[in-house]
Amino acid sequence: MRVLMTAAEMAPLAKTGGLGDVLGGLPSALAALGHEVTVVMPFYRSINAHRWGIPLQGDWTDAWIGGAHVFGGIHTWEKEPGVEVCLVAQDEFFGRDGIYGDSHGPFGDNDRRFAFLAQVTLEVARRMARQGRPPDIFHGHDWHAGLVPVYLAEGRAGFSIPSVFSIHNIQYQGRFGREILPVVGLSDHYYHPDRLELWGTVSFLKGGLAYSRMISTVSKGYAREILTYEFGEGLADFLWARRHDLVGIRNGIDVMTWNPATDPLIAARYRPGAMQGKDYCKFALQQEFDLPPRQDVPLLAMVTRLTEQKGLDLVLPLLPELLKQDVQVVVLGTGETRYEQALEQLAWTHPTRMGVRIAFNETLAHRVEAGADIFLMPSRFEPCGLNQMYSLRYATIPVVRAVGGLDDVVQDLDPDTGDGNGFKFLHYDVQGLRWAVDRALTLYRRNRPFWYRWREQVMQEDFSWERSAAEYVDLYQEAIARSRTI
Ligand code: ADP
Repeated sequence: MRVLMTAAEMAPLAKTGGLGDVLGGLPSALAALGHEVTVVMPFYRSINAHRWGIPLQGDWTDAWIGGAHVFGGIHTWEKEPGVEVCLVAQDEFFGRDGIYGDSHGPFGDNDRRFAFLAQVTLEVARRMARQGRPPDIFHGHDWHAGLVPVYLAEGRAGFSIPSVFSIHNIQYQGRFGREILPVVGLSDHYYHPDRLELWGTVSFLKGGLAYSRMISTVSKGYAREILTYEFGEGLADFLWARRHDLVGIRNGIDVMTWNPATDPLIAARYRPGAMQGKDYCKFALQQEFDLPPRQDVPLLAMVTRLTEQKGLDLVLPLLPELLKQDVQVVVLGTGETRYEQALEQLAWTHPTRMGVRIAFNETLAHRVEAGADIFLMPSRFEPCGLNQMYSLRYATIPVVRAVGGLDDVVQDLDPDTGDGNGFKFLHYDVQGLRWAVDRALTLYRRNRPFWYRWREQVMQEDFSWERSAAEYVDLYQEAIARSRTI
């Protein structure tokens, strides 16, 4: 099968979060199953063409935005056999620092930037057809790709292909004023609740969903949750009507990069049956954060964007009482200033128990996963989440809220049978988190032999992309079959 994708991020070229990781992993896994994938994404200024061997020479292309021709280039880079990336160069739109915005907030022309990307996607589809290899399916990711299925449904590629659309985070909907429709070449016909209109605005995400034959999201839990008013962000009713077209497919992780048996970024390597390296990683982490190097103290950690989504409103009230106990806490993250300052203050007042690094640092993220005993992820909502899977792989026990992908991945420990791979709580409140953390600490302190056996067992779970990629292939086939029956 030939799959055409559009996305705003793709690791390792450009990444701000989970979306970039998915585009880094899924196309390769599809290629390994024998499929061909073409990804269309912006050629951001931050992408180092030299480092990745991206050709500096591109093919000219143009699109019609705001009543004018906008010219750009398509630079085709073969990432690996079966995975081709079409980088869309356009100096005015993508030749600046930042992917979605800068320190002043989101860019004011994101509507035009991603409408341009969508229109160039059509050109890529046409080019593939001219080369005798037309795409069988279009797969859009998040609102940045939302206009592609709309344009395809209008027949603007010159031929028809069905679309599937993936929601990575329903909070981001690409909403703009009604006046954007003519700018991106769409008539007022689309300003309708069954099409792009959403609460008096135009939503690119809704367009992508409305004109795709199948919809997916990144975990089974999140697929259920976005049908509710609590999580649906205004799209619950719309999605409920499409519930038979909606599936949840959990993200995989990059098991080559995140492998404690081979990871060059951590202090020592370890694997089931040879776990001494993890103790060494704990010492190294304690040193890195200026904490007393002690093996017997439970070390709790977080690696996260510091936003409301990630449960900081539960962690911050709990920390002062937690830090009265004999524990160590390490936090790596960046984000909202109020959270950064509160965490730094706690580290300042508890120098022997807490260490904080305000940074986005991938190397340190690996070291934290390897060195910690317990990983905290008490998210308010979590479409999939990757860190709980990294934690399990690094034999670090996750404590999570039972929501979205965290609920899919983490099974609460049953003390009688020993089944389970972490600790979960249901309600988004401090008591819930306290209860789950207490259970983890109690087990760690009272039954270390069990803890050590248990962590060796949970680290052997398979989170590779292979299984998820096979589910995407089923989804593509389903979309193709269903679009034939209409
Ligand atoms: P989200 O996409 O909502 O941020 P995910 O758990 O799906 O959450 O993915 C976050 C990714 O970003 C993970 O790979 C995580 O390790 C990484 N990450 C988040 N914050 C940091 C940080 N401060 N330093 C390094 N990596 C980080």
